[in-house]
Amino acid sequence: MMSRLVQVAVPSPLYGVFDYRWTQSQAILPGLRVAVPFGRRVVTGIVVGEIDQTDVPADKMKAVHRVYDNEPVLPYDLMQLLQWASRYYHHPLGEVLSSALPVLLRRGKPAELATQEFFRLLPATERESLPRNAAIQQQLFNYLLEREGQPVAAASLRAFSSSWRSSLKGLIDRGWVQTQSVVTLPVNEANAEAPVLLAEQAEAVAAIQTSLSTFQGFLLKGVTGSGKTEVYLRCIEAARAKGLQSLIMVPEISLTPQLMLRFEQRLSGCLVSLHSGLSDTERLQNWLCAANGHADVIIGTRSSVLAPLPRLGLIVVDEEHDNSLKQQDGFRYHARDFAIMRARNRGCPVVLGTATPSFESMNSVRAGRLIELPLTRRAGDAVPPRLSLMDIRRRKLIEGMSDRLIDSMRTHLADEGQVLVFINRRGFSPILLCNDCGAAADCRRCDAHMTVHAKNNRLRCHHCGSERPLPEHCESCRSVNLDRVGYGTERIAAALAEQFPDISIVRIDRDSTRRKGELEAQLSRAVSGEARILVGTQMLAKGHHFPKLTLVCILDADRGLFGTDFRSLEHMGQLVVQVAGRAGREKKAGTVMIQTRNPDNPMLQTLVQEGYEAFANVAMDDRRVAELPPFSFMALVRAEAADARQAHAFLLEVVQALEHHRSGLLDVLGPVPAPMERLGGRFRAQLLLQSDKRSTLNNNLSRLCAGIDHLPGARKCRWSIDVDPVDLF
Ligand code: ADP
Ligand code: ZN
Ligand code: ZN
Repeated sequence: MMSRLVQVAVPSPLYGVFDYRWTQSQAILPGLRVAVPFGRRVVTGIVVGEIDQTDVPADKMKAVHRVYDNEPVLPYDLMQLLQWASRYYHHPLGEVLSSALPVLLRRGKPAELATQEFFRLLPATERESLPRNAAIQQQLFNYLLEREGQPVAAASLRAFSSSWRSSLKGLIDRGWVQTQSVVTLPVNEANAEAPVLLAEQAEAVAAIQTSLSTFQGFLLKGVTGSGKTEVYLRCIEAARAKGLQSLIMVPEISLTPQLMLRFEQRLSGCLVSLHSGLSDTERLQNWLCAANGHADVIIGTRSSVLAPLPRLGLIVVDEEHDNSLKQQDGFRYHARDFAIMRARNRGCPVVLGTATPSFESMNSVRAGRLIELPLTRRAGDAVPPRLSLMDIRRRKLIEGMSDRLIDSMRTHLADEGQVLVFINRRGFSPILLCNDCGAAADCRRCDAHMTVHAKNNRLRCHHCGSERPLPEHCESCRSVNLDRVGYGTERIAAALAEQFPDISIVRIDRDSTRRKGELEAQLSRAVSGEARILVGTQMLAKGHHFPKLTLVCILDADRGLFGTDFRSLEHMGQLVVQVAGRAGREKKAGTVMIQTRNPDNPMLQTLVQEGYEAFANVAMDDRRVAELPPFSFMALVRAEAADARQAHAFLLEVVQALEHHRSGLLDVLGPVPAPMERLGGRFRAQLLLQSDKRSTLNNNLSRLCAGIDHLPGARKCRWSIDVDPVDLF
């Protein structure tokens, strides 16, 4: 038999695609899943295309074992976009394509929507009577007879007996009952009225709607509570009226059950979600609904931007400044940037929404790549919260909180208000320090202190997850004179319980919400106002609407002023404004108090007095002067190994390889040890590449990647390339 040749992308850290013989009679289509031998294993790869010739010698050439699909699981336009992303992020195509697929498809499960079984009693010509001893069969028969002609779901027959199936089989064998397998798709019915739009909302909706069939990027810049979600809802409806699908990306959907509910109340049609809270099966089902074009609205986290969407007509990236949009391992794409590229390819609008735009997006507005749509006032009666700095130098502190701050809480609580205390650190205290010898309890696998978790008497490393029991003696000198230094949510909640014994307090962080259902339960106590004090980490900052909240206290904003990363300040500003935005979202005005030991810091002053935009403008000027992103382009080559020298040596080889091919002005900084050199027992080093031209960075990376697998040190460590890194850790 004549065999043809195909290129297959295989999930492997090696660059390049691999050639195989195609002995199947089926047509070769890019995007089909195939089982191919790879090394000693058989893996699921994706067909990239047919080729005429190969460099692989005939005796080494292997054949595709099996083709899983009749139709490509990744359509052609998406394949092309993912190929672009593989080149842009310098990540192997096989892994890029594989991250676009739900887990079950990666494992070779069929790309088919689940069906439900239905049974129907056929119209009778004549029926002999059933045997006397077949009671269950008789019951099933009667049940179907009452619904003669109507399909009845298997689920309703199961109630009759555990042996219903064998009894039913008797009826089927007699030719009385017919079985049907039906795909049931979710359909949602809106049940809430839409409010009348404010003028600015209406303008934003109009601008987005007019470009529904052309590419245009928008920055919907709306203060917290200004009704951005309402704008999305209108645009989604408009898209649906034109038969188009909308993709809505939100950071960590599972943290904001309120948002999903709101979409369900307001939108009709097929709504599906794609996020990590779903089971593999649910995820596959929802993904297939999106991919076969049935879903009208797809609400998902980061990876939903990689799903096939044949009728795509609108992309919304909510909270576009949020770091969780950037994948931090494997295929390190930024979902916002990918969304923009996708909209461009597709010819549809993309809306980036936020109260605190990333500096990247602000810069794109200046450069004319994005159109800014401002929402400057809050919807309804709500007024913007008042921010103020609270100088805590030389003040009496009660567990890290000033007496004045606690007084303010008392006042708000007495006035029927609700109080949110924000501290971006979980656990009891970040350090356990010996008063006699000065040693801190450190992680044995990382360059980091262990955090004290008082409730379960443990020390935990927040970087690698190691744990050990909370020691009673210093681990160095055996002294019992140990001090818990610094504050976390657990400690603050305990301190507040002592200050306000009659007030109910809820703590919301990753520890208190680990078990299923806990987060929903705690949030509902917060939303209803039953809990009057909320203590939490940034989990509380995102998107929540607490109607009774009047006072927000930010305990540790100073940390952002001294962060090690060039983006620390930007993130501090965003976090403060986002947390502050939880306050006063209804009738009562909100107050925000920021504790600081740097009340004269000009950046804090600007943020508090003039707001985020003024703050961002100043901070961006600093970035420009320092030639940092978005005014230059970066990539980070990271390496880690059990031995620090191996990681370093490999990066030196990378430097040499870069020198050898260097084109254009490229700064190569390093190698240096990572800011936290040891993590999980491995040593990490990094090399920073920077250029004022995207093309220079990209060309140099392309040349590097062509040979990087063959560098002698590449096998001795784990390495990765991060294009447009969001943190330099
Ligand atoms: P954002 O997404 O900008 O934080 P939301 O869309 O959640 O703001 O709106 C904040 C609140 O204002 C919500 O309770 C919402 O129902 C309400 N809202 C939004 N738009 C309007 C409007 N045009 N008229 C009345 N209420 C509105
Ligand atoms: Zn000691
Ligand atoms: Zn650790």
